[in-house]
Amino acid sequence: MSRRAGAKHPETDINEQAMEKIPFPFDNSYARLPERFYARQNPTAVPAPRLIRLNRGLASDIGLDPDALESHEGAEIFAGNRVPEGALPIAMAYAGHQFGHWVPELGDGRAVLLGELIDLHGERRDIQLKGAGRTAFSRHGDGRAALGPVLREYIVSEAMAALGVPTTRALAIATTGEEIRRETMLPGAILTRVARSHIRIGTFQYFAARGDIAALTQLADYAIARHYPHAREAENPYRAFLDAVIERQAGLIAKWVLVGFIHGVMNTDNMSIAGETIDYGPCAFMDHYHPGTVFSSIDHRGRYAYGNQPPVAQWNLACLARTLLPLLDADDEAANEEAETAVARFPALFETAWIRGMREKLGLEDAHPADMTLAQDFLNAMAENKTDFTLAFRRLSDLKNGETGDDAPFHALFEHPGAIDDWLKQWRIRLSQEGRCETNRNQAMHRVNPAYIPRNHLIEEAIDAAGQDDFQAFEELTAVLSNPFEAQSVGHKYGNPPRPDQIVHETFCGT
Ligand code: AMP
Ligand code: MG
Repeated sequence: MSRRAGAKHPETDINEQAMEKIPFPFDNSYARLPERFYARQNPTAVPAPRLIRLNRGLASDIGLDPDALESHEGAEIFAGNRVPEGALPIAMAYAGHQFGHWVPELGDGRAVLLGELIDLHGERRDIQLKGAGRTAFSRHGDGRAALGPVLREYIVSEAMAALGVPTTRALAIATTGEEIRRETMLPGAILTRVARSHIRIGTFQYFAARGDIAALTQLADYAIARHYPHAREAENPYRAFLDAVIERQAGLIAKWVLVGFIHGVMNTDNMSIAGETIDYGPCAFMDHYHPGTVFSSIDHRGRYAYGNQPPVAQWNLACLARTLLPLLDADDEAANEEAETAVARFPALFETAWIRGMREKLGLEDAHPADMTLAQDFLNAMAENKTDFTLAFRRLSDLKNGETGDDAPFHALFEHPGAIDDWLKQWRIRLSQEGRCETNRNQAMHRVNPAYIPRNHLIEEAIDAAGQDDFQAFEELTAVLSNPFEAQSVGHKYGNPPRPDQIVHETFCGT
């Protein structure tokens, strides 16, 4: 259950128990690194903390008590007005390439890492407040976040988690009672983000650009210990580390592409070393399939278009590899060779992960050399017919192995329904070559082809209503998206693509 706006305000729920200190068993390893890795920074207090949403399941997962957090004290913690005991708040230093342009210092300009908790699975998780006020890295920014982008990050990151895509998570949303200045005045909010870590490619770039080899080595050793402990045993641990990051990133981007996700701002400062999707700004899911799809209002050249994501990820990983050169080998030429060989593996790793996922989406168990063509032909037909990507796979899941005349709902997704007939024949021939029973195949496809994704028009509708202090649409949408593979009775509206008048053409970072 979550707190709804319009329901009682947290301030009125104060009871004696809730006033006791809520335990956060922090163990802050990043803050034990040298001072030049971060700036110590407490969140800046806000006038009127109000807890809009607590992710109770996630709270339990990371060993926190959801009931205790749904209190006045919880609201104060998530708004940054009270620093829980054991926290050691810092803003992390990093650099990055933004749209290909080098920026030597970015850093957490509006985020504060409270500390780290060990979750119920023994994994270390960062707890970060995003929108918590100015820091040493704020430059001209106000350090704040508006409610709209905070809701967007909550909806999309939690949907990604439910879709099985590695991602940072959203623990809570608090509003601040403050208006912030963007193009207009907007309500301020803070997102509490949970991540395996906030180390980015840009964190490595920050130290490499300064020629600070000691810090670089320490950062690499830290990242290895935290995320890739097996690399320590390798003959060349830094090469093993680079390989492992590249493998995880290839798997991650394949998952994005397989659900129709467009990150929108794949700058190197927004790429996590742990392989999670991070920094949900102008991100969006495609409705109808087209590889050139771009939503971000700032991506004028389509650098981060849907179909460009794999090569851009490889470009980013080449940036990471470059920072590691001094660690890869004492000899420059040998180091270059290690880096190049590692990065060159990306396309094959991506393709292997992608075709494996695509086979599952198409209901195929065995691997055939012609699968790539079968998949590509399906996508081409979708692109030519403005076919909804998500529904095409979902409705394909329902089809029988043989032709039955029940294909109408699937056909209806294609502008020229006949355009998919030949392909369907090929697909059925391919199915007949496998021993799998039809029901089994239908069910397996339903488990990988979602009925619901966070469609742009639904997100905007939820954000618009929240601007009027009505969180019903947000509540409903997050509830449906928490179970995206299961057909839901309330889900009709949520499963459909936008009507022409509902189509969203552009998304914004809102920073
Ligand atoms: P992003 O586009 O969210 O990845 O942010 C890029 C950089 O700008 C990061 O260093 C952020 O910390 C910083 N930044 C974004 N928004 C703000 C803001 N409102 N105030 C201060 N810094 C910000
Ligand atoms: Mg960022």
